[in-house]
Amino acid sequence: MNIAKVIVDVPAKEINQTFDYQIPDRFQEILSIGMRVIVPFGPRKISGFVVGKSTNSSFDKLKEIIDVLDLTPVLTNELLQLGKWVAEDTLTLYITAYQAMLPQVLKSQYKKELIREEHVQLPMELEHLFAGRDIITYEEFEHSTARYSQLQKAIQSGDIRVDYIVKSKITKKQLTMIRPAKEAHLLEEAYAEIPKKASKQREIVAYFIQNPEAIEQGKLLKMLGTSRSTLKPLLDSSLLRTYKAEVYRNPYNDADFEKTSPLQLTDQQKQAITPIQNDIANEKHNVVLLHGITGSGKTEIYLQAIQDVIQKGKEAIVLVPEIALTPQMVKRFKGRFGSKVAVMHSALSSGEKYDEWRKIQRKEVQVVVGARSAIFAPFENIGIIIIDEEHETTYKQEDQPRYHARDIAIKRGQYYHCPVVLGSATPTLESFARAQKGVYHLATLNKRTNNQDMPEVNIVDMREELHAGNRTMFSRSLMKKMEEAIGRGEQVVLLLNRRGYSTFVMCRDCGHVTECPHCDIALTYHKNSNQLKCHYCSYEEKMPTECPSCTSDLIRYFGTGTQRVEEALTQLLPEARVIRMDVDTTRRKGAHEKLLKQFAEKQADILLGTQMIAKGLDFENVTLVGVLTADSMLHLPDFRSSEKTFQLLTQVSGRAGRHELKGEVVVQTYTPDHYSIELASKYDFDQFFQHEMKMRKTFHYPPYYFLALITVSHTNQVKVVQVTQQIVHLLLQRIQQETVVLGPTPSPITRMKDRYRYQCMIKYKNEPQIRAYIREITEQFRDDVRKNNLLITVDMQPYHLM
Ligand code: ADP
Ligand code: ZN
Ligand code: ZN
Repeated sequence: MNIAKVIVDVPAKEINQTFDYQIPDRFQEILSIGMRVIVPFGPRKISGFVVGKSTNSSFDKLKEIIDVLDLTPVLTNELLQLGKWVAEDTLTLYITAYQAMLPQVLKSQYKKELIREEHVQLPMELEHLFAGRDIITYEEFEHSTARYSQLQKAIQSGDIRVDYIVKSKITKKQLTMIRPAKEAHLLEEAYAEIPKKASKQREIVAYFIQNPEAIEQGKLLKMLGTSRSTLKPLLDSSLLRTYKAEVYRNPYNDADFEKTSPLQLTDQQKQAITPIQNDIANEKHNVVLLHGITGSGKTEIYLQAIQDVIQKGKEAIVLVPEIALTPQMVKRFKGRFGSKVAVMHSALSSGEKYDEWRKIQRKEVQVVVGARSAIFAPFENIGIIIIDEEHETTYKQEDQPRYHARDIAIKRGQYYHCPVVLGSATPTLESFARAQKGVYHLATLNKRTNNQDMPEVNIVDMREELHAGNRTMFSRSLMKKMEEAIGRGEQVVLLLNRRGYSTFVMCRDCGHVTECPHCDIALTYHKNSNQLKCHYCSYEEKMPTECPSCTSDLIRYFGTGTQRVEEALTQLLPEARVIRMDVDTTRRKGAHEKLLKQFAEKQADILLGTQMIAKGLDFENVTLVGVLTADSMLHLPDFRSSEKTFQLLTQVSGRAGRHELKGEVVVQTYTPDHYSIELASKYDFDQFFQHEMKMRKTFHYPPYYFLALITVSHTNQVKVVQVTQQIVHLLLQRIQQETVVLGPTPSPITRMKDRYRYQCMIKYKNEPQIRAYIREITEQFRDDVRKNNLLITVDMQPYHLM
């Protein structure tokens, strides 16, 4: 086995294969599959992943591996296989998939250091190398006579640890620890000999006679009210010992979380959890769709299922949309499982992320709660995978590899024979359709655990407000209810649904929205050309000066930001204290948590924000939720816009009246009759599902059809159109009759960074070779891609159509 098969870090299509390298003798014993190496590649030195070993190669004159970057594999066999599948499924490179599975720190080369554990006996060469020190650099080892195999053995037995030196502001934290160096009876003897007037010294020794465990120096000195100089003689006489201990950069202090214990489940919860528990007990893979209204106790079910998994000695992965947005969620997992939980999300520094990842790799935790990429947690004995709020689009990665965490979860669930639980109050049409067909198991929770009804939703027709002379962005009824709630000392959440704002055109008199005659999707306003365009079929028309429906000249495109709403609020309700939460006010790390804490502590009456306030928040004192503009998302050029509107309205409504106080919701809209607004106000998911499924069927969209989006971009517009045209043409020669190919169509953002973007959309039902076709076709443009800066991106099952 002296040949390694390596996936190298060269981002080009033709490199999606392994290369053979000779393993030099010095690496023979240590090199394993799943490690990263440095290899020569042409004139360069590049990094790569070892994916296999063999005794022979079909090439002779192999080059040698230059260096081994890891001393323990960073990817398990399962993850190597998974990465290959991800790359093939999303039409990307193996190397890209592997890199996506690792924390940032491991994506580039970092310096390593070796840390010896306390009180271990190392082989002579290594003892020599450390020469009494706790930490040495890896380079020192490389330049020494010590052998790799010795080091590796010491690592495997836990005598030496390897650490990557993260060059970020926050480097590894170390604490000075003090521990007794002698047994208790010897300490007692020593104690007797310490002069009486050295009372502090006596106190310290007395402490360690009682407490033989190590304690942090600062803590000890503070506790006994003394200083380092008192310690010194005790250290000098070898009664005590000092050493450095590494502490993880723990962004969460476990002591801050109050311990919780399992609640007695309601009958509905019991019914829902039973199949999950059975699958855990029988080690059986199943996908369970947990459809439960907000406040119905889904999270408690997750917690108790995980409890079972931990008891079996297995591990759990929990995905939440973007954990920075839900500190309350972290609290619930840490509260139940304490230090068994690692937390991974984008707001952590790269050092913190790496520490959390390492806890998983070393099996020091059994649970990871994290955002999308936590789905690649290097556990090797997974017992359950949970995706909370499974309908959230953040589970789809919008960069290569464009994977969906749900697909990865199911793949890993199959591998580990464990259940995958998808939880939501408003499941995606895709998942719910699968549950209805029996592909997934459906579990339903339709009661809140506190038996409160969902808050009543009042729809306000903003056209009538206008006709009554109210030109502000607040309807009269919302104004009145806000004043009343604040008057009672209760709190208000206001949602400004800003996404897609200012792109669609609407008549303020009649609510008419100009749509494409061929696609049933709102046209998008292009400011430069003053045109309305369809982003699916290239249809376009001039921006009208009067409403085509009622001839009013109050036809406008929209533009309102949270800042403007805040200003308006201060004018209309000067006594109200407002906290504004949007990308601007939450940019700084921890700002998000701080604002929420202030609101929870009732330092404000109104929490005003964008989508980010809709999720997971749970405030006892909130009795009124106002949605300022329910329609703004409805007219995005996206076939999922109705679904997203329904989800958002349902979610934000769930923020009111979660506790004793009864809640109420006001939804302001110009299209009160739209089915997604009307049905969301009644919490009628089933009806919405039926209606939306009909639309999807009619317009050939998921879940009836699969989609593939090919986007071509280049600085020359003619070239982009030509290439896209050719791709369409080549596709049409290969695909089945019922498959639809649309395009070339300009992308919704037609020019980005001086590059023109055109796209082609494939809608297919049964096209087993589709990936092979796309690969083969895009290969034909390889030269243009390599030499002429042409870019072709493929998104299988796109969520983001821009
Ligand atoms: P969801 O995740 O579906 O929104 P949660 O799990 O957050 O629901 O539950 C809502 C509230 O009900 C929480 O405060 C939770 O502690 C409480 N709860 C959940 N299950 C029970 C139960 N079986 N008995 C009493 N309270 C419960
Ligand atoms: Zn009109
Ligand atoms: Zn169209």
